[in-house]
Amino acid sequence: MQWLKLKAILLEAGGVRLEGKPVDKYLARSTAGPGAGGPGSVFFTTGKGRVRLSLRPDSPISLLHRGDGRVTLQMGSEKVEGRLEKVALHCPRQAYLTISEGCIYGCRYCQVPAQQNRVKTVEEMVSLIRSVADRIDAIAITSGVTESPGEEERITLALVQRVRPLGIPIGVSIYPTRETPARLYEARVDEVKFNLETATEALFREMCPGLDRHLIQEVLDRSVILFGRNHVFSNVIVGLGESDTEMEECMQDLAGRGVIPVLRPLQPAAAIVQYPRPSAKRLLHLFRREQEILEKAGLDPGQALTMCVSCTGCDLVPGRDV
Ligand code: SF4
Repeated sequence: MQWLKLKAILLEAGGVRLEGKPVDKYLARSTAGPGAGGPGSVFFTTGKGRVRLSLRPDSPISLLHRGDGRVTLQMGSEKVEGRLEKVALHCPRQAYLTISEGCIYGCRYCQVPAQQNRVKTVEEMVSLIRSVADRIDAIAITSGVTESPGEEERITLALVQRVRPLGIPIGVSIYPTRETPARLYEARVDEVKFNLETATEALFREMCPGLDRHLIQEVLDRSVILFGRNHVFSNVIVGLGESDTEMEECMQDLAGRGVIPVLRPLQPAAAIVQYPRPSAKRLLHLFRREQEILEKAGLDPGQALTMCVSCTGCDLVPGRDV
């Protein structure tokens, strides 16, 4: 089966049922992003691309681990051979850290506010990054908001200052203040991701009470000036009730600003656990539209060094998934 189609089917399914040998050596547990607080996930590759698979005992798709990372995916009568990738911190080849594991905001799709509100110390995070420094290509930093966006920014800058000497590209994705892009740029961060989250303003008001969409757009614009095209990203969730046309308009708008959209398939959770996952067919359609929009805007996700566009585990990424 073609990689793109396979990945879209797996993203629609939302997870696999594990069989065979234990996968402890390959298991990732997330405190942010899709699957936060869940039973864990593994990263599957056929050599053509990567997909993150949550472990779900009720999934109709099975993943048989035969040992040493060799696996077989079984979907109905179709079998696909592949390998599990080892995780550094959160995902393969990156130290992706979450500073605050809780959040004062209450986005309706997000599990994070329900988690225990733990904030890692800078010292703790530096030692975690050092422990995997020989097997990563990037450091990525994200956070919930425990006290205020300014406080998360302060901790982020303190961490960046400590790990910058390692000479590894650094990406940051936090809820910003107006000054965040300039401060991160001065700290020599390489890339940033500020998430628009929804395709439309109306959905944003409904889904993200308390967050400021205009502020996010403003900091994205400033970020493109500072970090350059191909190094500024924004997650937009697919499946919150937007139409394809609305999603395309949102992608056009972001690409017009020089920002690469990350189309993130909804993982129904929290207050919208009853929402359906977007279908493989829809994900493939939007992928093709994104491919055209990015090409027209002269943007290339293949240039990304850090975070989700470089990882590709949770999304179909033009220029990387083929
Ligand atoms: S795509 Fe992003 S959220 Fe998904 S596993 Fe990779 S780094 Fe994590």
